[in-house]
Amino acid sequence: MDTVLLLSVLGVGALAGAVGVFLLKRKKAEPVAKEAQDREIKSGQPLDQKLEKTRSSLLGKLGGFLSRSDSSALSSKDWDQIEEILLEADVGFGTTQALLNAAKEKLKDQKGLGLKSVLQDVSESLFVQLKNGKLEFLPEPKPLVISVVGINGAGKTTTVGKLAQQIKNAGKSVLLGAVDTFRAGAISQLKVWADRTDSQFVTGREGGDPGAVAFDSVTAEKARGVDVVLLDTAGRLHTKTNLMEELKKIHRVIKKVIPEAPHETWLVIDGTLGQNSVIQAKEFQKSLDLTGVIVTKLDGTAKGGAVLSIASELKLPIRYIGVGESVEDLTPFEPRAFVDAILG
Ligand code: GDP
Repeated sequence: MDTVLLLSVLGVGALAGAVGVFLLKRKKAEPVAKEAQDREIKSGQPLDQKLEKTRSSLLGKLGGFLSRSDSSALSSKDWDQIEEILLEADVGFGTTQALLNAAKEKLKDQKGLGLKSVLQDVSESLFVQLKNGKLEFLPEPKPLVISVVGINGAGKTTTVGKLAQQIKNAGKSVLLGAVDTFRAGAISQLKVWADRTDSQFVTGREGGDPGAVAFDSVTAEKARGVDVVLLDTAGRLHTKTNLMEELKKIHRVIKKVIPEAPHETWLVIDGTLGQNSVIQAKEFQKSLDLTGVIVTKLDGTAKGGAVLSIASELKLPIRYIGVGESVEDLTPFEPRAFVDAILG
């Protein structure tokens, strides 16, 4: 009798357990699905909505000035206030001064202009313009080697994955080289992107020589006739070697296979760092021949004004901006569209 009772208690317990697990799973699954749905909605948004945090912060404070039809009548107190607002948006001291001086000059010559159009024009002129900055320049030369550098956490691996997708969409073949052999998980993270974007993949063992992976990647690209290789490099080392020296060494090693490579060296910067990102970028610029910048995470920050000082202080073209975590959230940078999105 005792055994029968015990069995029925166990039976009811198991049933209750199973129902509990089922309900728990349902509870867990719902927010995940909602998150994915939200991400999907966000990734289809136009640029001004992606940059909403910077935009609303700037517009919220500048609004009163922007709505005046003739900004030549602004008082010096007004200009001081505008200066403060730009500094708060992380435009940076030097760039803010340059912008305001240019704006005042412009207003001397042309009366009756609104502050918005003046700021849009002078901001746009800060950017190094690219003739062929977008994917039109692919695949010349072929094979093309792009080295992607930046501090850990800046968004390098994610950006390499997004770039791979865009290059694939343009009908070109891609090989991803997982050169960051130091960070645990970096290789497998890039492998996921290679699988997702149907790109070729080359790596070495964890903790192995990054130069060897770069060499193997470029050799494989050349041998297999792949259009573009993207090298995802390390952002911090777990050895005593200096990061910049290691990156320079990687570039020297690549030249043994293709003397002109890397054809492009793009620095990935975390846009949420604001002015600190400019300091960081300058360190990379001292050591490497950078040919472009990619600013990430601009969807999550009100410090988007830093993009203006990155462009004007580094005198480098901004190639792309990252505006979210989905594969589509990498936008070729167009100065006018960016300025319009944060001021328009
Ligand atoms: P890495 O260490 O430089 O390779 O950086 P990761 O690619 O691992 O990215 C670090 C974190 O930033 C990850 O959680 C990414 O999903 C996230 N991330 C990268 N780019 C963006 C972006 O444009 N927007 C947002 N919101 N997150 C991003």
